[in-house]
Order: sequence, then C-alpha cells, then structure tokens
Amino acid sequence: MQTTGKVRLPEGKRVAVNIGVDFDAHSVWMGMYGQYSPAYMARGEFGAEVASPRLLKLLDKYNIKTSWCIPGHTVDTFPEISQSVVDHGHEIVHHGYAHENVTPLSYEEEEKIMKMGLESLSRIGVKPRGYRSPAWNYSPNTLDILEKYGFEYDSSLMGNDHHPYRPRRVEVNEDKASVYGEDSTLLEIPVSWLLDDFPTQEFVPAAQEGLKSVSGLYERWKEIFDFACDQEAGACFILTVHPQTIGRGHMLPMLEKLIQYMEYRGAWFATLGEIHDNFEEEAKKDNS
Ligand SMILES: [Zn+2]
Repeated sequence: MQTTGKVRLPEGKRVAVNIGVDFDAHSVWMGMYGQYSPAYMARGEFGAEVASPRLLKLLDKYNIKTSWCIPGHTVDTFPEISQSVVDHGHEIVHHGYAHENVTPLSYEEEEKIMKMGLESLSRIGVKPRGYRSPAWNYSPNTLDILEKYGFEYDSSLMGNDHHPYRPRRVEVNEDKASVYGEDSTLLEIPVSWLLDDFPTQEFVPAAQEGLKSVSGLYERWKEIFDFACDQEAGACFILTVHPQTIGRGHMLPMLEKLIQYMEYRGAWFATLGEIHDNFEEEAKKDNS
C-alpha cells in the first residue's frame, strides 16, 4: 500500500498551494522536441527575458513564494535572470541539465546530468533539496540517484493527486507483472498534466496542440482546486506553469484571477520545501 498522509496547515488555511515554475527557456525545445533552430530558441528567450520578470512582478504583488524548477542550461544561458529568481526569495529545484528525458539513459549518463545540473545551480548559490524530472518520467535508476545525492523530495510522479506520498520502486517483469519494492526515503509531491499550462496553451506545430481556450483551462484548475479545498483534509494543490506560456498577455491575468480566488478560499501558498517540512512534521506526530 502507498504510504501517504496530510500536510499540516497554518491556522485558518484550508489547502496548501504550490505554484511550480518550470523555467525551461531554450531547453524544453531541445530536450522534449529535438528543436535547436533560432526560432525555437527565441521562444525560450521570450520566456527568460520578457515573461519571467512579468511573472516575478505578479508573485511579488501577492507576496507568494514559489518553486522554480531550473535546468542547468537555463542557469548557464540566462545567469542574471536565474539569479534574480533566487534574489526574489523563491525556492530553486533541480530540473536536469538540458531538459533530458532520463528514461532510456544508463545509470552513468543519468548521474552525469545530475552532476551538471548541480554544478550550474551552485553558480547561483543554490544547493537544491528537491528534484523535478524534466520529462516527468523516471528511469529504473532515478530513485537511487536522488537518494544518493541526498534529495529530500521529488515532484514528478502521479501516484496521488492531492497528498504527498512515499514513491516505491516498481518494475514490470518479463511476464508483465508489476512488482513493487520498498518505499523510498524521499517524499513525492505529485504533479498532474491537468494542472500544467503547457499542453493546452503552448503551440507545438508538429502536434497541432496548444491553442485551447484560456477560460476552459481556468475552469478546470478552479474545479480541481475546489475539490482539494472542500473534499480533502490536509491536501495540496500543485500547479505547474512555464514563464514562456503563462507570461503572455492573455494568460497572466488568468493566473492572477486564480491566485485571488485561491487566496479568498483559504490557500496557504507554500514552496515544495515548506510542504515537505509540514508533511514530515505531521507524520512524526502520527507516529509518536
Ligand atoms: Zn521543464
């Protein structure tokens, strides 16, 4: 059985909300779509140089601290903007080097990427406590590597929707039987494709995707938030946005409207690190 539990909430708050900002810039086009041409790099440049300052300004307006998942490639390409995210007080999470999908990689290849990401983040003074896999996918070695490098939490999997849990090793054997192993020492703070701005709003020509209505997305996010808020005690709501997507003129006001709504309903805006700490505190209390 999955080991899960509640997040301890500050007095008067009803649900923990994390805004995860996947600051992929150029690297998402390289790592996910194999695109290296100047036009795709320009889309990443927009995300870094135009959209990120807009998003930082909005988050400052509401005094919200968020978790920026930054690939090493973004730090090395846009060092000043990456540094300004740190200076604004946001949490920084490891997000690969050039947005690699680690699933087909060997242990050595995956560990090399882990080290490159850590080195880049150290250049802006960061030693991350958390990890988010760029492709929201694992290899059979990912949990071992995260434990070896001392990560306390991950936010890439979908084994729950509103509660952190301990991820387990799982293997599908030759007979296609799924075999679970032990709980990891890490805490998983789960993501969802349904709570991500990219699939419906970022135009990807080959897939002919990304041109859906913003109001439809707002309604979906609001309904999922209301469920977490009303139906689940000690729940969290983990949203993922990308500066190059959410930072456009028609998207940013939608995020602001959602922030206002969530604040009104009793959201505790927290970093992934704060959600981890409050979960562990509650778990300790339950065990004592
Ligand atoms: Zn990403």
